[in-house]
Amino acid sequence: MCYNYCMKRMSDYTYHRGLKLRLYPSFKQVDLIKRNSGCARFVYNRLIAVGQEIHDLKKCRIYSKPVKDRLDYLETIYCDAKELKNTAPFLSEPGIDSDMVANEILNYRNAWRQYREIPGSSVPTFHKKSNEYSYNTSNHYSYKNGNDIQGLWEGSIRFLDRDHLNLPILGRVRFKGSRKDLSSILSRTEETRIGSARIGIDPCGKCYVSLKLASDSPFYEPLPQTGKAVGIDLNLSNFLWDSDDLTIDNPKYRKKLFDKLIKEQRKLSRMAERNIDHYSDQRKPIYKKPLSQCKNYQSQRLRISGLHSRIRNQRKDFLYRAAKEEVKSHDYIFAEDLKVRNLLKNHRLAEAISDVGWYEFLDILSWEAEKNGKLFMKVPPQNTTQTCSVCGHISSGKNRITLGMREWVCPECGTYHVRDLNASKNILNKGISILNKTGIYKL
Ligand SMILES: [Zn+2]
Repeated sequence: MCYNYCMKRMSDYTYHRGLKLRLYPSFKQVDLIKRNSGCARFVYNRLIAVGQEIHDLKKCRIYSKPVKDRLDYLETIYCDAKELKNTAPFLSEPGIDSDMVANEILNYRNAWRQYREIPGSSVPTFHKKSNEYSYNTSNHYSYKNGNDIQGLWEGSIRFLDRDHLNLPILGRVRFKGSRKDLSSILSRTEETRIGSARIGIDPCGKCYVSLKLASDSPFYEPLPQTGKAVGIDLNLSNFLWDSDDLTIDNPKYRKKLFDKLIKEQRKLSRMAERNIDHYSDQRKPIYKKPLSQCKNYQSQRLRISGLHSRIRNQRKDFLYRAAKEEVKSHDYIFAEDLKVRNLLKNHRLAEAISDVGWYEFLDILSWEAEKNGKLFMKVPPQNTTQTCSVCGHISSGKNRITLGMREWVCPECGTYHVRDLNASKNILNKGISILNKTGIYKL
């Protein structure tokens, strides 16, 4: 008991990082992951149903005994892991992770917190059954032998060697991951703890585990300081144009595979169509055989999700490379605070915008900068294109610079401008002026 009392919490540690590894489980282990994920979905959906019923019953203004009794009962099972397990005995069966229920309750609470704190997010809704499986589990350290080391090699989630991991319920599983990351983590001498893990299968059928790591010594060494600042303009014609006149072309990964994707998706929908029972008199299409049992349909589905994941991986790799390049050569990085959700409403540009991945890029930039001891800041996007970076003249009315104008001449001072380079210089100026106002940084 004493050891438990002394134990540090994950949030008490100074430095945190995630580690995602590819798992190679056996058929039996895959089955266990799917079962646990199904149970996690059940717990989450049960909580949503109970929450909704409580909300509806509380609207009843007149006192009635059955309503009162029902409310009392619902409130006892709401967010209580023990009561939930009593009402659904299959959650206590062998092979079902007991931490999964507690973690799912936490997820449900987080979903509500997110709804309250983040403007524009919607209320938690039921989780549908899909081809993706995942559940959370926690790490436990045992103190039976007076062993109070909390490291990578001791808990219920632990590394067995450089290729194998022990996971609760699943046992020994082979893994693969980034060699650079793994060698830096596994060779650490400082206390490094594993918090919780998310185990899952993606639509392509590949298994992953994401581990939360925490320590009191930093995971990354900060990059050397350069003393330089840069403004980045993101646009569709080329992916990025920064104030050092560096341009990166827009790779348009989805567009390159678009024809192939459409062809394969057409094949898939034809397969589903052929399976419809046209003699049934019900309005909803009835399949002769459930689609989950159709072998050709499933293999075609896997082919399509493989294409999607290829596009996603290519884009992610490209964004990381671009962000690392910027962070490496500058100390202060400024970009426009783009409201991507609003931009997506323009349905002519929506596909091109979601293909380019701006939002993800800004996210990656912000934490790559934080990780390496640099500063990233978003600046308000008003008039960055319309302002002349030399004299500060703002074009308006008839003289407004439209999307088609790649170059223009300032009517005030006569400077020749390349549209996107000028915008990036404006972003840099805005960022510097904001920093100078705060007085913390002097540029
Ligand atoms: Zn000017």
